[in-house]
Amino acid sequence: MERTLSLIKPDGVEKNLIGEVIKRFQDHDIKIVAMKMLHLNRKQAEGFYAVHREKPFFNSLTDFMTSGPIVALVLEGDRVIELNRKLMGATDYTKAEEGTIRRDFASSIEQNVVHGSDAPETAAFEIGYFFNSFEIVG
Ligand code: ATP
Ligand code: MG
Repeated sequence: MERTLSLIKPDGVEKNLIGEVIKRFQDHDIKIVAMKMLHLNRKQAEGFYAVHREKPFFNSLTDFMTSGPIVALVLEGDRVIELNRKLMGATDYTKAEEGTIRRDFASSIEQNVVHGSDAPETAAFEIGYFFNSFEIVG
């Protein structure tokens, strides 16, 4: 059993996609074991995306991620890291497979609706970034 961090980004919340994204998780037997809505400040967004600090899109990305509320979820299931990445689709929605969240709803490479941890180590860091042990059930 694995856990992963999912974020519904500000564009996803703005487009009223919270229910749609959660439905897709639940339709694939993914269990939600933690969930909260929050509005990141700049320091929090920069800390979350610290690995991208040197990238040309870093400032734009942190601007975007602080532009409105997000929903953070901890997902649990068999190989859920990979399954969530599959449901999300490629970072660039124009290259994402049909039927993926990003292909269906993203509006740019940056405003791509969802985030999902990409490996067990990043999942552990990212879950801990948003949730303490008392906020995760089961
Ligand atoms: P995420 O980490 O959000 O799940 P990802 O792993 O598919 O997405 P990363 O390469 O980790 O993509 O980039 C993190 C985020 O930075 C992307 O989801 C997107 O919002 C933004 N981003 C990535 N590449 C670009 C780019 N070339 N221009 C603008 N924004 C970008
Ligand atoms: Mg990533």
